[in-house]
Amino acid sequence: MPDHPAARPAPCPICGRPASPRRVGARSPSPFCSDRCRQVDLGRWLTGAYALPLEEPPAPVAEEGGEGEKGG
Ligand SMILES: [Zn+2]
Repeated sequence: MPDHPAARPAPCPICGRPASPRRVGARSPSPFCSDRCRQVDLGRWLTGAYALPLEEPPAPVAEEGGEGEKGG
């Protein structure tokens, strides 16, 4: 069957459903299937879900043992 990669719309990045290229009342073409998913994506940005997690370097492990005060 004629399955053109450009013919089929890209799936919604939020829910994965095939976003409808033509929607009634669609103001602007968006990769989201619905306005709700668009809000979800926006919320992720606001909450910083897209922000890369800062990986803190491993703290230097203090070597124990070795020094010991004698006497006393
Ligand atoms: Zn969606």
